[in-house]
Amino acid sequence: MDDEVLNQPPPLTDFNLFATDRALRECVAREGAGWACAQLGEYGRIAGSAEAIEWGVLANEHPPVLQTHDRYGHRRDEVEFHPAWHQLMRLAVENGIHNLPWANPRPGAHVARAALAMLASQNEAGHVCPISMTYSAAPVLRRDDAIAAEWLPRLRSTRYDPSFRPAPRKEGVLIGMAMTEKQGGSDLRSNTTRAEPLGDRQYLLHGHKWFCSAPMCDAFLTLAQAPGGLSCFLLPRWTPDEKCNAFHLQRLKPKLGNRSNASSEVEFHGAWARLIGEEGRGVATILEMVHHTRLDCMIASAGLMRRALVEAVHHARHRHAFGRALIDRPLMRNVLADLALESEAATLLAMRVARAFDEDDRPFARLAVAAGKYWLTRRATAHVAEALECLGGNGYVEESMMPRLYREAPVNAVWEGSGNVIALDVLRAIAKEPEALQRLLSEIRLAHDPRIEKVAAGIHADGPEMARRLAERLALALQASLLVRFSPPAIADAFCASRIEGDWGRAFGTLPAAADIGSVLAACGSV
Ligand SMILES: Cc1cc2nc3c(=O)[nH]c(=O)nc-3n(C[C@H](O)[C@H](O)[C@H](O)COP(=O)(O)OP(=O)(O)OC[C@H]3O[C@@H](n4cnc5c(N)ncnc54)[C@H](O)[C@@H]3O)c2cc1C
Repeated sequence: MDDEVLNQPPPLTDFNLFATDRALRECVAREGAGWACAQLGEYGRIAGSAEAIEWGVLANEHPPVLQTHDRYGHRRDEVEFHPAWHQLMRLAVENGIHNLPWANPRPGAHVARAALAMLASQNEAGHVCPISMTYSAAPVLRRDDAIAAEWLPRLRSTRYDPSFRPAPRKEGVLIGMAMTEKQGGSDLRSNTTRAEPLGDRQYLLHGHKWFCSAPMCDAFLTLAQAPGGLSCFLLPRWTPDEKCNAFHLQRLKPKLGNRSNASSEVEFHGAWARLIGEEGRGVATILEMVHHTRLDCMIASAGLMRRALVEAVHHARHRHAFGRALIDRPLMRNVLADLALESEAATLLAMRVARAFDEDDRPFARLAVAAGKYWLTRRATAHVAEALECLGGNGYVEESMMPRLYREAPVNAVWEGSGNVIALDVLRAIAKEPEALQRLLSEIRLAHDPRIEKVAAGIHADGPEMARRLAERLALALQASLLVRFSPPAIADAFCASRIEGDWGRAFGTLPAAADIGSVLAACGSV
């Protein structure tokens, strides 16, 4: 019978993303956010529901649409989103993923938020962009008393208000960032946007930004050249007299992935903005925001890897080939176990670094974020590609979600410091704060493991041409140390044998014969 469907897995819906993730649950408890387990369990349930999965599908099938003008020719500069986008945003904002540590500054708040963000990224990563930028903007807003007094109470709201109105009349706000210009995104000092002083720390901005994501945010941390040099500004969508600011949307980028999220090109035609920090200190000021968004690149990458793993394991459990379930095929087991190691190592690293934000452990966080951002964003792209293949042809078809994960993965490497730039930042961090390297090495050595000790002894800063190797080693050594201390021995041993001792091929699925693959798969805790 042609209509009979045989040997296809059931849809993977209505499962709890948090309850089924042993590694994440252990991290949350260990890194100080055990108090958030009930919220995480509830969020994980909703994010894994058929309904929320469908929001992700719809928000990507119906990407945002730019409306530059109304029908009479007046400027509108608005972006319209599918209702599913608003559902995703509402869920994230109501759970405080955009503000938790600032609204509820208790120990473990950054870890709790990181875990929520990791769950959100697993369902639909695009909407996490404005959520992440808003979280990351708060430390910069705090640097100016007047701006902090006005904007932080708005940012602490957990009401999602997508209306296009002046911020004082809204129930909640979101903040974006606008740094990258046509001539350069890494080399921000090449910014040409001009800031014309009006007095009293107010300016008019003239110029453009080549990338400005989530342009329906209520304000943007923006770089522009003031008389005293490159400076950081807060540019709201509306002026204090409630006029639409001269922030003109030119185009939305047609992107590889991240399609639910609008990323725009924008021009400033005398846009009103307020200085934050000192003139000439723009990069130093905005870097505090970038430091937090880099953490989120790690978290999102860990989320993408976890989701890809879960989808691959689910398929392999239900699909049979040559008379047996794929998950019982020795070579498929090697592939899945290898993917599981990578996913667990990413989760442990991201959550450990999030704790450094709770503890205000600056030297550790500065270096670990750079090395971790470099490494997890690279691994995610390769990981998702391999997981996709576990689903065979189904993995190449949109409905499987794998193409969306695959298209999303590289963006975390590109933005917030592309690979080379972030690897060079590892060197910069060590040069500026030599104790950061010592701090990271002492943490790595807490494993008291000769395999890891050997790697740690070989870690030192060389020239820029070796920066990627340094970043990779730091991240791998820290991952191995965390796994040895906190994960099941089968996982730690297989990770060390393959990633540290080199008993591994150049693709996933090449774990050594001695690896306890059965225990690794049993421990990955997927649905
Ligand atoms: C989907 C998306 C959304 C974005 N949203 C925003 C946003 O909201 N706000 C915003 O400001 N920006 C945003 N960006 C821009 C992003 O931050 C930049 O693309 C990124 O910083 C790289 O800048 P660039 O594109 O100008 O590349 P370039 O700076 O030209 O870099 C090109 C390559 O050269 C490498 N490179 C640069 N310098 C060196 C060096 N010294 N040595 C060795 N290699 C080097 C880089 O690593 C990169 O691989 C977004 C980008 C994307 C893709």
